[in-house]
Amino acid sequence: MRDLEFVGNGGSSGIKLKKMSFIPITINEYVKKHIEINPSENEKDLRDRLNNALSDYQKGIKCNCGNDIWVIGSASIGNNCFSCITGESQPNQDFEIGSAIRKEVNLESTKNIDEYKEDSQINGFYDDDGSQINMDLISKPSLCASCIKNDNPNEELFCNMTRYDQKNDDEFKCYAYININGEE
Ligand SMILES: [Zn+2]
Repeated sequence: MRDLEFVGNGGSSGIKLKKMSFIPITINEYVKKHIEINPSENEKDLRDRLNNALSDYQKGIKCNCGNDIWVIGSASIGNNCFSCITGESQPNQDFEIGSAIRKEVNLESTKNIDEYKEDSQINGFYDDDGSQINMDLISKPSLCASCIKNDNPNEELFCNMTRYDQKNDDEFKCYAYININGEE
């Protein structure tokens, strides 16, 4: 991970409020402040990442925990909400791009990705980027209908992973396949 220092004091108020209280700032103002603190930062690169994160926010892209993303933090480390990036429940003198300041925040669900991974056996699983994979979008190959493991909840995670790995392949192959009649 890159070295970075966010503009603002961080810190927690210790009070859980439903409303996030950021200090609004424009991209231009923020870039100026950020470069002052991190002089090695490439200005154009930073600006591009801020614009990308802002447009992701506007498209409704959420943090893994379901909260709206924090544009300023996301520009440096990828799309995540304030709580997941800083570990703080509330911003305190932290900046956010003015047009992204109204956030939907669900304080009940500020689990981090590691906790999500632990219950992945129940809830699904995540790709290498930490994004949850929606298994509903992956169709069940016809081969599975004659497999003894079909609809066995203990096998489902492994079956799903096999299906996911081959989601773009023309022909589905499964080395765990066992014919329902016990034949190879
Ligand atoms: Zn989050």
